[in-house]
Amino acid sequence: MTDIMEITEKILEYGPICDNCLGRMYGKSSHGLSNAERGKAMRISLALGKNIPYKKEEDACWICENLFDKTEMWAEKIKEALKPYEHRTILIGCRVPPLISESEEMLWTDLSLQNPEPIKAEFNRETGKALTAITGSEVDFKRPDIVIICDIATEEVEVQVNPLYIYGRYMKYERGIPQTRWHCRECQGRGCERCSFTGKMYPDSVEELIGRPVIEACDATDAILHGAGREDIDALMLGTGRPFVLEIAEPRKRNVSLKELEALVNKSAENRVAITFDHISDRHEVETLKSGKAHKKYSILVEVDGDFSLNDIKSALDGLKGVTINQRTPDRVSHRRADLVRKRQCLDIECSGIEDGKFRITILGDAGLYIKELISGDGGRTKPSLSEKLGSPARVTSLDVIMVEGVVPENQNELES
Ligand SMILES: [Zn+2]
Ligand SMILES: [Zn+2]
Repeated sequence: MTDIMEITEKILEYGPICDNCLGRMYGKSSHGLSNAERGKAMRISLALGKNIPYKKEEDACWICENLFDKTEMWAEKIKEALKPYEHRTILIGCRVPPLISESEEMLWTDLSLQNPEPIKAEFNRETGKALTAITGSEVDFKRPDIVIICDIATEEVEVQVNPLYIYGRYMKYERGIPQTRWHCRECQGRGCERCSFTGKMYPDSVEELIGRPVIEACDATDAILHGAGREDIDALMLGTGRPFVLEIAEPRKRNVSLKELEALVNKSAENRVAITFDHISDRHEVETLKSGKAHKKYSILVEVDGDFSLNDIKSALDGLKGVTINQRTPDRVSHRRADLVRKRQCLDIECSGIEDGKFRITILGDAGLYIKELISGDGGRTKPSLSEKLGSPARVTSLDVIMVEGVVPENQNELES
């Protein structure tokens, strides 16, 4: 006890200090007190112990210049800065002028203090309390909707609006639409004759068809599509659709009804693309989705050289069913990917009939199984293949993805196994 009184006396010798800064020197001792209460108690103990008059500090604090007299002002400033943004949760951070941190750290070292609290922590906590008292905002340390940075030197408030994530599935009913925006190859997006000054290779993408109405409805600045894999630009995406998470940047509106948003997208995409929105998602789910472990189901049309009956094809496909396929990186992508042999399962493969002399085949395969090469053999780079089984060249003339397995969040996987 005397120890605290001695230290208090020493601290006071440095100059006028506010109760907050004084209390913070023992800030991590005795829960249930504010630093201002600690500081006041330390001052009173010293006055009682030495039997000298208790004196409230009148002069400006040499460490913080009475920063904590301005807590209400900061709360009002933040409230104002938050006005344009719908949100539920916030996190407050601050930039402390170096002189302030240096001053308090000098005391910690000089007096070998064991449990001081940095001013940053007190500022964030006290400002947060004052803010929640005048707004409905809740403080969330993990996934706040909005991060507020208070610059103590300039007394300015910065607002960082975190993205809104929505999980859904999309169907693509028109060929020639890439999944995401492609920059024009000529101008890298700057705009040129080739791209009619759009900066893009294609006028539309699934990302934009979904994103445009969402950006407008959420008053956002951008919308980025994270897909569970992607289909070729000329492939359709049918069936139950491909899972994706839409990342909506800097939304001013986030209290959106997913059903209404979904209807808005589906109306504006005019059946070129259609979606379902399932739930509000997060950054973690994007990572799970992008790990790309989902199985995929394809419907393809295959042209075969030579005279083969439906039964010939069916028995050749039996030789691929449930088989591990060794695929050397296909010729068509080898300039973009490392050349190595990958093992992928062809889980199921069936021929359902003949259409205009071509065979309709459905395939269920591991993510990353190259379907065109599974059929053609890619000059022997993929083994086994339909061409190899038939002893005659076969090639895919149309390819559609009809199902992508939903992605199970990682923690759920752990529960099941
Ligand atoms: Zn102070
Ligand atoms: Zn261009």
